[in-house]
Amino acid sequence: MAAIIKATDLNYVYSEGTAFEQHALRQVNFEIPEGQFVGLIGHTGSGKSTLIQHLNGLIRATSGTLEFEGENIYQSGYDMKKLRSKVGLVFQYPEHQLFEIDVFSDVCFGPKNMGWSKEEIEANAKQALTMVGLDESFYDLSPFELSGGQKRRVAIAGVLAMKPHVLILDEPTAGLDPKGRDEILDEVAELHRKYHMTIVLVSHSMEDVAKYVDRLLVMNHGEKVFDGTPREVFRHYKELEAIGLAAPQVTYLVHGLREAGMPIDEDITTIEEAKQAILGAFSRQSGGKMRWTK
Ligand code: ADP
Ligand code: MG
Repeated sequence: MAAIIKATDLNYVYSEGTAFEQHALRQVNFEIPEGQFVGLIGHTGSGKSTLIQHLNGLIRATSGTLEFEGENIYQSGYDMKKLRSKVGLVFQYPEHQLFEIDVFSDVCFGPKNMGWSKEEIEANAKQALTMVGLDESFYDLSPFELSGGQKRRVAIAGVLAMKPHVLILDEPTAGLDPKGRDEILDEVAELHRKYHMTIVLVSHSMEDVAKYVDRLLVMNHGEKVFDGTPREVFRHYKELEAIGLAAPQVTYLVHGLREAGMPIDEDITTIEEAKQAILGAFSRQSGGKMRWTK
């Protein structure tokens, strides 16, 4: 598959040449193929938000290049406005930017700047609200009458209504309770499954993203330190821990059981896989009886 985004040797320095200089990205390289669901993980301050703002041109790299759909976005005459509509960025706590009188008007706000007809704007807003699971009964509500998770979905719909090719969400679960968190993550996974969108999901929690994404990019101190499928990345669970990123709980369970002699695959990353593997190990050894001897 063709890369929709390609970053080469990206560096970014905040306040360069001042006492507040902060080297936030160091020699970051990656390609994202069209349609991939990527988890961008890292401890607070590792450079995740800085990196994603490069992807839609809000921040310009201090050095390095960035290509979108095969074009260098730093070449002169490149249409940054178009880039911003194609790479939809949902900021952290996006509900702070809801301000229109009702849900529908809010979702129409972004598309109104796209130069589309009223019919197109409304059709895209409706489709976007459907995509995040909000039906017509929500259209006339004030954003302030909604739950935390619903507000966040309205904010995501506002970005989707601009028909982006890539959707980037910066810590979309921050501050939500477990139910709201699961709902948002399921919704995002659904966008990938149903509409095959290219998605970058930013999180500081492995547990949150591991079961959804195709690939993990792990950042530490501005550098990309791991890049691979969740399975590949979790093999480094001890190194991940050293940079403040615990692997999902199930990784520890699986490694503990292996150390105790149970022959199960070390690459298990989800509770469901662990359950099947543990039941399988029991049934192989004891004909299905729940008994295990080393
Ligand atoms: P993350 O999103 O992973 O928490 P950030 O990209 O926000 O990380 O930050 C990366 C580094 O850049 C941190 O050291 C942070 O303090 C610094 N930084 C972020 N924003 C600014 C800014 N506007 N001015 C100066 N330094 C910043
Ligand atoms: Mg951040």
